[in-house]
Amino acid sequence: MGDIQTVAVVGAGTMGSGIAHVFARSGFPVILCDVEQRFLDRALASIHTNLGREAAKGKLTEADVEQSLSRITATVDMESLSVAQLAVEAAPERLELKSEVFRALDRILPSAAILATNTSSISITKMAALTKRPAQVIGMHFFNPVPVMALVEVVRGMATSDPTFAAVRDLSVKLGKTPVEVNDAPGFVSNRVLMPLINEAAFAVMEGVATPEAVDQVFKLGMAHPMGPLTLADFIGIDVCVDIMRVLQEGFGDPKYRPCPLLVRMVDAGWLGRKSGRGFYTYEK
Ligand code: NAD
Repeated sequence: MGDIQTVAVVGAGTMGSGIAHVFARSGFPVILCDVEQRFLDRALASIHTNLGREAAKGKLTEADVEQSLSRITATVDMESLSVAQLAVEAAPERLELKSEVFRALDRILPSAAILATNTSSISITKMAALTKRPAQVIGMHFFNPVPVMALVEVVRGMATSDPTFAAVRDLSVKLGKTPVEVNDAPGFVSNRVLMPLINEAAFAVMEGVATPEAVDQVFKLGMAHPMGPLTLADFIGIDVCVDIMRVLQEGFGDPKYRPCPLLVRMVDAGWLGRKSGRGFYTYEK
């Protein structure tokens, strides 16, 4: 497996901008790609702000901030990703869209390059099968906010080779992250365990067992969670939680993963959590 020097990050939203941030901060030239210039401008502005925050805390110098920013090239032209040895795809969580992006990356990047996806729930094995290099396809599942969260779930598809896994594991360490090896299965480990917790917490509220505040208190004070499951659900987005429960339900064919009707009704009402101003709690817009 050749050395990874230049990294392509595809999708400059919440996750893609965080991923570009950590690669650039660790010394890698990054090509950040999105479909419109305004999304790239927004990403560069947020990376600048977040690097500035790290400088204010004394974690970086002003020179580090400038150097990190200078390592990022923003583009709407996917063809310019042809110089990268690794692509990390962070496009929206829709199979058709990700399939299109993956096929394009397979065509554009050198045949030795690794194609990684930051998907939360789509099968790595399925994504790999779209390409001519299934052994070099892997999940690199970062957590939000990427510059802060230590974990990368490194997800092996059925065909992922040992050298691909080793390269991505070592790279994650270079980024200052802790890689955890996981095999491809619906929800990997993180969402397979977290989402049923959130879903069950919603059932407890729906059945009148406790208020959202009470459920969250139980987890904060009794289990030392930094935030309760329903506060976390509001952060993640109630719609995203329901979508992931449906992926688990379909993937395992087990009714224990059925989304809580309260969550489904909240999505119908547009109560999506922080991003819409209301979820289990209300937020200032
Ligand atoms: P987002 O909507 O914030 O960003 C997606 C970006 O991709 C947007 O800027 C969009 O313009 C861009 N895009 C759309 N089509 C594109 C294309 N064809 N080529 C290039 N860019 C394109 O989404 P996000 O929250 O950053 O999520 C991205 C991925 O990361 C999803 O797969 C999601 O499941 C996963 N993920 C999200 C989180 C989270 O907490 N948000 C955590 C872990 C993983």
